[in-house]
Amino acid sequence: MKLSFRIQNLSSSPIRKLVPYASEAKAIGKKVYHLNIGQPDITTPPQFMELIRNYKSEIIAYSDSKGETELIKAIQKYYAEKEINYELEDIIITNGGSEALIFAAMALCDAADEIMVFEPYYANYTTFAKQLGATINSIQTRVEEGYHLPREEEIEARITPKTKAILLTNPGNPTGVVYTEEEMKMISRIVLKYDLALIADEVYREFVYDGVYHSFASMSELDNNLIVIDSVSKRFSACGARIGCIICKNKDFIKEIIKCCQARLCCPTLEQVGAAALYDVSPSYFEEVNQEYKKRRDTIATALSKLPGVVASEPKGAFYVMVSLPVDDAEKFAIWTLKNFDIDGKTVMFAPGNGFYKNPAHGVNEARLAYVLNSEELKDAIYILGEALKAYPGYTLQSKQ
Ligand SMILES: *Cc1c(COP(=O)(O)O)cnc(C)c1O
Repeated sequence: MKLSFRIQNLSSSPIRKLVPYASEAKAIGKKVYHLNIGQPDITTPPQFMELIRNYKSEIIAYSDSKGETELIKAIQKYYAEKEINYELEDIIITNGGSEALIFAAMALCDAADEIMVFEPYYANYTTFAKQLGATINSIQTRVEEGYHLPREEEIEARITPKTKAILLTNPGNPTGVVYTEEEMKMISRIVLKYDLALIADEVYREFVYDGVYHSFASMSELDNNLIVIDSVSKRFSACGARIGCIICKNKDFIKEIIKCCQARLCCPTLEQVGAAALYDVSPSYFEEVNQEYKKRRDTIATALSKLPGVVASEPKGAFYVMVSLPVDDAEKFAIWTLKNFDIDGKTVMFAPGNGFYKNPAHGVNEARLAYVLNSEELKDAIYILGEALKAYPGYTLQSKQ
């Protein structure tokens, strides 16, 4: 059989592609600190399991294509508490934020249409676009500027007749950037001026460490153009539940999205029941989790600042930090570390940075570290990373000195 060019043209996830090397390391008894993936180690609130355990029906039936009403109501209430008001019809449950992103791109892009993103960006965006024959129009942001947005004219100059949407991750993955209100207003002006869609991926909304968070959803001028992508994965440490949603006040958009929902029938029935219960957690849950991540952010920043030649931005949100490493090639270094390095049987795994750029020739000496381990383990992991750097044959620092 012949495989499509489209599928052969997709890339493997930079976050997951080194998994076979990690499995080999574990098979020979090494402990691997996983800094490669945003899988939090925080316990999922127990309400989730309780509701599922008490589920009485004898049939696991299909649920509504648009999602379970209980869950939609819970999400509506969560937003209302932030003074963002949605009708139940504005919220559609999806199989994670991932499916919400695919549906949004599907509703907005025909073949060769473009989605504008800011580099470095969440690698799966490329796959979502390419699956649909759409492309990513990427604009670079820089570590020295804390990965903030370029000037308005620079962004406008990159808009083409094929540009259908701007996709922003706020707080950012992999950068940890949190956009300022000025930046958000600028994006809003551009979106309205060119009548684009703004896809706001806000799955890390709760993870902001300095100052208050502003959602694009609270900017009413965007009502007709804004698509919010949301998920329980990171918020409640429930990545495997596969529950997310797509939220939009534009009725035409929602009408089209429902066709996609009907074709995939529904999201998992039991997980929706559990997810609705997650939204019952007390506000202190968010406070505690936020404090824990903030502590980790500070721990990893301090540990990284002690490593010569390592340049890191200071993340303001989410739970990632992009670093540039004094190595020839971060992917080679990542594989080498898993295969050839350990201290007392322990080693580290991280995501090579070039996967977060459209052009894989960029970000070759960069890496994304996810601070999803407790502070003690994080310190140990960064210590091991530092020792691995010095032992790695492609370490570039000596030659520069
Ligand atoms: C994790 C993540 C998602 C969605 O994950 P789901 O588990 O599918 O909800 C979306 N965007 C970004 C930037 C992410 O990091």
